[in-house]
Amino acid sequence: MIGLPKRVIIGSGIIDNIPRYINELSIGHKDTLLVTGPHIVNVIGMKVKELLEDNKFSVHVKVVNIASVDVAYSIINEFKSSKPLLIIGLGGGKSIDIAKYVAYMLNANFISIPTSASHDGIASPFASLKGFEKPVSIKTKEPLAIIADTKIVANAPKRLLASGSGDVIAKFTAVLDWRLAHRLKNEYYGEYAASLALLSAKHILRYADRIALGGEEAARIVLEALISSSIAMSIAGSTRPGSGSEHLFSHALDLVAPKPALHGEQCGVGTIMMTYLHGRNWKRIKKALKLIGAPTTSKELGIPDEYIIKALTIAHTIRPERYTVLGESGLTWEAAENLARRTGVIS
Ligand code: ZN
Repeated sequence: MIGLPKRVIIGSGIIDNIPRYINELSIGHKDTLLVTGPHIVNVIGMKVKELLEDNKFSVHVKVVNIASVDVAYSIINEFKSSKPLLIIGLGGGKSIDIAKYVAYMLNANFISIPTSASHDGIASPFASLKGFEKPVSIKTKEPLAIIADTKIVANAPKRLLASGSGDVIAKFTAVLDWRLAHRLKNEYYGEYAASLALLSAKHILRYADRIALGGEEAARIVLEALISSSIAMSIAGSTRPGSGSEHLFSHALDLVAPKPALHGEQCGVGTIMMTYLHGRNWKRIKKALKLIGAPTTSKELGIPDEYIIKALTIAHTIRPERYTVLGESGLTWEAAENLARRTGVIS
């Protein structure tokens, strides 16, 4: 069974139309919970609340600043008896991840309104929350609609757009890993989902110069690529087309680094190294990330070299059932150090 968003609306200055878009979904109720972040609540959150209230929605607002299981459950417990039937995630990744999980647990409709294009959680059915046993995303439900105002997304810090680009470029090695697992382990492989994910990654490589310029066009390119790759994951029914060894490296860094960088930034650097392991053109990946302004070295990630190497050596243990180019025994310290050095990630 493939669950897909009913509507994807991307446009410039469309925020005022939010109540109309929601009405057109014919959900048939107006009891809404708006989950947003401490900064966005003042910039856009209150405006969205007012717009909805002017259209006879009743709106509760929850401000969250961390995407953890504890935060999600405190909201679930607070609302489980009143049960809002529509839950909106408005913000960057954290608010959307929390809203998505809460909507899943309360069996409510979920609408994603991203204010930045920093990772594919804005459109996928997968939520990544801190506090679960493993630092990987869990399957919830797909958004009923995704509403993205390119004017707002273009105003988000440029670092977020570069990070989102890294999360899309990651699909390149995710698909290579998936094919490998199919050939070696007879794992299910969906050609269509793989092609769609790959297309998103190629789209970012092709338009890297335009993304580098920033502005609304850049926002649109990255948003569309993030949404397409999320749809690839919805079609596959798993994160396989979107998350391979480069994501395992990023998850491992989250565990070992004293101060991890952004998810997409780490995935981008992981993609450079895993492309090298696959024997593909890693220099092209690196060049595109550089052009976009995404980190390509440990220094730019702000993570000391030893943590990069450590993460490479433990990445295969993060999700042992997900076979990748790292194999079952992973990389030795020496092999990891060589890999990071040859690709210029450490010097
Ligand atoms: Zn990701």
